[in-house]
Amino acid sequence: MQLDLRLVEEEEIAPQELELPTIRAKVFNTIQGEGPLTGTPAIFVRFQGCPLKCIFCDETVNHSDPREGPYTTFKNVYELIDHIQLVKGNNSLIVLTGGEPLLQGTVLEILASHLFRNCRLRMQLETSGHVGSSSLLHQLPPALAGIVISPKTAKVAESWLESCWWNDVVSWKYVIPALGELGRDGLPNISTQDGVTPVHIQRPPHWIKKTQILVQPMFYRNDKESTKIATQRCVELALRHGYRLSLQTHRYINVP
Ligand code: SF4
Repeated sequence: MQLDLRLVEEEEIAPQELELPTIRAKVFNTIQGEGPLTGTPAIFVRFQGCPLKCIFCDETVNHSDPREGPYTTFKNVYELIDHIQLVKGNNSLIVLTGGEPLLQGTVLEILASHLFRNCRLRMQLETSGHVGSSSLLHQLPPALAGIVISPKTAKVAESWLESCWWNDVVSWKYVIPALGELGRDGLPNISTQDGVTPVHIQRPPHWIKKTQILVQPMFYRNDKESTKIATQRCVELALRHGYRLSLQTHRYINVP
């Protein structure tokens, strides 16, 4: 696909005119452990905040991985950008994750465009899809290394279901538990949210290839046997349906 670099190089966002909120995030260098870019060194920005409350969430205070360090408050997006530039080392990939990064709105647009323009950092976005795709993605095609949508709810925002230029870089990732009902398509029927009525989770749109659908075993922190069962389930689903297996390899190599 031929990408038009002028989109990001000529269009300056004028952030000085905007009100810039404070940001709570963790910033750390690691290896991207899961999804289509597994094994790629990356700088992670884990934004705090998501209303969905999944039982295995990496973002929530109780489940935070101490190897990532504490959350930091940045007084605005420029302080965050300065910090990223300071610690990014040789990384050429930035992973924007959460929490729900798309709740950051304009902050995300400034961050991604600035870091691509000035540092040539390409961006991978991880989202549950319950927030719409944002104008960011339409402005920054060359800066986008990938989008991973991991639905947790019955409906994702309509914009993720529309065919778009990002067809080739999008993946739909499903977390597969050790127990619980799966649909005939092998994808989970039961929501992974904590304390809510179970729902039928959103399926990918019809234009997605099977290899863009990822099945990833749920990680049970204190229950190796359940993690093993979930992993075996994913292997079988990949073989039966043609989905890609996504393992959380960072847990095996002991990095955040
Ligand atoms: S959608 Fe993602 S960030 Fe939100 S609670 Fe679930 S796992 Fe955590």
